[in-house]
Amino acid sequence: MINLVFLIVAFLGMEFVAWFTHKYVMHGFLWVWHKDHHTPHHNKLERNDLFALIFAIPGILFTFLGAKANFNYLFFLGIGITLYGLSYFMFHDVLVHHRANLIKNRNNKYFRAVIKAHNDHHSGKKNYGFLFMIPWRYFKQEFNSNP
Ligand SMILES: [Zn+2]
Ligand SMILES: [Zn+2]
Repeated sequence: MINLVFLIVAFLGMEFVAWFTHKYVMHGFLWVWHKDHHTPHHNKLERNDLFALIFAIPGILFTFLGAKANFNYLFFLGIGITLYGLSYFMFHDVLVHHRANLIKNRNNKYFRAVIKAHNDHHSGKKNYGFLFMIPWRYFKQEFNSNP
């Protein structure tokens, strides 16, 4: 049971880490890596994808070390971090940027709210969160409107 708490805390905490990194690192001193994600192009890969590789490391490391230590809390932190990475990919790369056609039905209120927030980020708004750390008005707009 406590392991599930570790997993959920890691998952939710990663949204904060992603928000923080996006705001202060990607739009800060590592803008050179993030810039091409904000520049229209037809390439399959972006330099920005390097962040995904780096972000994968703690998840893999924790999962591995936790598994070696008889599946202690580190394992569940690692799984939580990795599940966040997967959700981030499904949201950001599949849902918003259409890099793979894995989600057929995009038409629900939650998806519409988070997609709009990220699209607005690409239009210059300061929305740095991804899965839920976005201004509340995006959710309000969608959930107050009819289907
Ligand atoms: Zn950005
Ligand atoms: Zn984007």
